[in-house]
Amino acid sequence: MARVFKACSVEGCNRDAHEPGSGRGCCSRHYQRLRKNGDPLKSKINREQSGQPCSVDGCDKRSGYHGFCQAHYKRWLKYGHPEVVSDTFRRRVRWVEAHVAYDGDDCLKWPFSVGDNGRGIVQVDGRQMTAPRFMCLLAHGGPPSPEHEAAHNCGKGHEGCINPQHLRWDTSAGNHADKVEHGTIIRGEAVNTAKLNEDQVREIRRIGSSMERRDIAAMFDVSYWTIWEIQTRRSWAWLI
Ligand SMILES: [Zn+2]
Ligand SMILES: [Zn+2]
Ligand SMILES: [Zn+2]
Repeated sequence: MARVFKACSVEGCNRDAHEPGSGRGCCSRHYQRLRKNGDPLKSKINREQSGQPCSVDGCDKRSGYHGFCQAHYKRWLKYGHPEVVSDTFRRRVRWVEAHVAYDGDDCLKWPFSVGDNGRGIVQVDGRQMTAPRFMCLLAHGGPPSPEHEAAHNCGKGHEGCINPQHLRWDTSAGNHADKVEHGTIIRGEAVNTAKLNEDQVREIRRIGSSMERRDIAAMFDVSYWTIWEIQTRRSWAWLI
């Protein structure tokens, strides 16, 4: 018995609803859209145009992929972060990681470019911080409180010392040996641009995976990315 041609159930589509890959009364193309997007008329492009803005600051594309536009979603899948970290920063981060166990007594000089304060800058998880702060994090663990800064025992921070044995966490009040390292990493309410307070951060963690991160973000009027960082303790790590 010859197979009978049956038109796709999408109005105006004359493709065969029995062709390979078809299903639920739709031709293959419309069936794929139905499966992927829940609607045979919704293509990915439509999906992106109708979504919320992409969570990446400064990106004006619409999101449709876990809060990111397609390009940023792909980068997020590939690098674990929607913004590609440049080779420069990757080299610097690798250099710090390679010297965490350095045990020489002399100052260990930062071999890359430095800012006006003599300190190098690294970028980790999309945030910039001074190289001494990053070294202090790796060598001695996170700061005991948001007020603690990476300080030099040798007083040679301005000369680019990054010897892990010369670094310690200290509060600016008790830090006589050296100027404080001003990391720009978000440290909760200590940063006056922080939109959230401690109670809200606790609430976001309590909600956990019971809500979509995108919806939590909308609820607190912050980006998807902010929620992700809080829940994975990449920010507000010190808050219990
Ligand atoms: Zn069709
Ligand atoms: Zn984007
Ligand atoms: Zn030193």
